[in-house]
Amino acid sequence: MALMQIAEPGQAQAPHQHKLAAGIDLGTTNSLVACVRSGKAETLPDELGRHLLPSVVQFGENGVVVGEAARVAAVTDPLNTIASAKRLIGRGVEDIKSLGNRLPYEFVQTETAVPRIRTVVGDVTPVEVSAEILKTLAQRAEQTLGGDLAGVVITVPAYFDDAQRQATKDAAKLAGLKVLRLLNEPTAAAVAYGLDKGAEGVHAIYDLGGGTFDVSILRLNKGVFEVMSTGGDSALGGDDFDQVVAEWIMIQAGIQDDADHMTLRRLMQDACSAKEGLSEADTVPLDIELPDGSRWQGSLDLERFNALIDPLIKKTLIACRRAMRDAGVENDGIKEVVMVGGSTRVRRVRERVGDLFGTQPLVDIDPDRVVAAGAAIQADILAGNKPDDEMLLLDVIPLSLGLETMGGLSEKIIARNTTIPVGRAQEFTTFKDGQTAMAIHVVQGERELISDCRSLARFELRGIPPMVAGAARIRVTFAVDADGLLSVSAEEQSSGVQASIEVKPSYGLTDGEIETMLRDSIDHAQDDMDSRNLREQQVDADRVIEALEAALATDGDRLLNDDERRTVDTALAALREIARSEDINAIKEGISAIEKTCGFYVERRMNQSIHEAMAGHKVNEFE
Ligand code: ADP
Ligand code: MG
Repeated sequence: MALMQIAEPGQAQAPHQHKLAAGIDLGTTNSLVACVRSGKAETLPDELGRHLLPSVVQFGENGVVVGEAARVAAVTDPLNTIASAKRLIGRGVEDIKSLGNRLPYEFVQTETAVPRIRTVVGDVTPVEVSAEILKTLAQRAEQTLGGDLAGVVITVPAYFDDAQRQATKDAAKLAGLKVLRLLNEPTAAAVAYGLDKGAEGVHAIYDLGGGTFDVSILRLNKGVFEVMSTGGDSALGGDDFDQVVAEWIMIQAGIQDDADHMTLRRLMQDACSAKEGLSEADTVPLDIELPDGSRWQGSLDLERFNALIDPLIKKTLIACRRAMRDAGVENDGIKEVVMVGGSTRVRRVRERVGDLFGTQPLVDIDPDRVVAAGAAIQADILAGNKPDDEMLLLDVIPLSLGLETMGGLSEKIIARNTTIPVGRAQEFTTFKDGQTAMAIHVVQGERELISDCRSLARFELRGIPPMVAGAARIRVTFAVDADGLLSVSAEEQSSGVQASIEVKPSYGLTDGEIETMLRDSIDHAQDDMDSRNLREQQVDADRVIEALEAALATDGDRLLNDDERRTVDTALAALREIARSEDINAIKEGISAIEKTCGFYVERRMNQSIHEAMAGHKVNEFE
């Protein structure tokens, strides 16, 4: 008779206990929710059969309205209707000033770093707006699945920084959701196509939406997905296609630039319809209403359309090449190309992308739904429904993380495009004798000088035992978790004193700024090296000055006669002067000059200390 098996309490899983989990694509324009049902990831429609939920929330007199109804309300109630909250989330008042002018709603002037928008029901933050969208989608999932959600995976752009990721998590918390993980959008798309189940190799994810373009290079290695690099253009998308088509129509129909607002608005809509029509047909008819009420008729064919948009597509291809260079792969090193975003329905886009990578891009999954579907697959695994599946998803750090060192230089601890989660440690030391505290300044960016990087956080390590300069060993550890959040800790090795900080900056970098910072780091590479060398020389000079001053204070009176003291003082004054100059060579020469002129003093001190150390000891102890 077989023995009965008894599981340890709490260890066994009931056979039918399937945890409900959902993937949410929280988009700029539209959001979606998806679940794995009967082993298949599918997006869930609302009661009217609509899968896409417009990412628009109206905080009106009659309460909160989310989705299509809010999108419609935006026309009549623009001040209380918030769209594109994703462009604001995790950003500070300063960050969005430029955007703010172009947005219809009213920002409240506050002292806090978080922007607030005035509505009739009170002030709301971008986090609250996103929370409403998440709540609506979670409800849809719970109604469809018939139970409470155990957790969700929410996708974010790969370039989202700490603040933007943290704010997205806050929105989920506010919506009462447990976040299993934040997942980068391109990674989700690759998962939706099951690339993780295929052979090892490098893949490109090309995401062309309405207003943004993102490209990511992913590598599948030993069953682990790794984002090797990301790139793109935060102000390039299908809206620009509409724009060039609209401009062409204006010339054909003789519409002036200063035409009334309504005419231009209708024209943009007509241009968009024409563009979308050309994804199916080879020519589309145009019937345009002119400012005077009369109409202009014409047509737009594929050939002309392609010529109009080619320069825009070319920009995306340049960004693709750049991402490949960052990842260190050649065109023919790319196995699959995944198409994401509504604008990848444009046939010319597919062709040109196919040509660049030398492979037919993957377009079978609806480019609107592919990200949500991948998030659902990941949510299902993280909820524990597939214990066998050990897929780990790794994402990438968009800009290097580092510390400020002497001379206002940035020492990079984790390089840009490093995959996360990641932990790196480096040892630093004190600059002055007896230094008991160290200021730790965490920065992000590629440039050599701190002033060109972005400051993320500052904290102090106190209680370092007094030692001579350079003797203390302070280990600084950077850790970035799977959601891309950074924590930094510092520990003095001999005493064990430590301090740490979780980096939650109150405002974020815009993706445009990330691009600018990257571009600058390339444009200024030579300048930066020069500045770095100069600063290093200056720090060296400071160190010499510091040491001489400390020595003079201790034994200058005892070991030097008046003449000698004058020599040392003069040399010191000269070096102080030179150290402030911008002339690297002069500083270098100044340092070796002072080493010569004051060498006798250093020697005398050394003899003195040997003498002191030996005093009271028998000589043979030192043999
Ligand atoms: P976002 O990621 O910016 O929210 P989407 O991925 O939803 O944007 O893509 C929206 C863009 O896709 C719009 O510019 C829209 O005109 C374009 N688009 C949608 N369907 C088509 C189509 N059939 N042909 C060409 N463009 C399309
Ligand atoms: Mg998108």
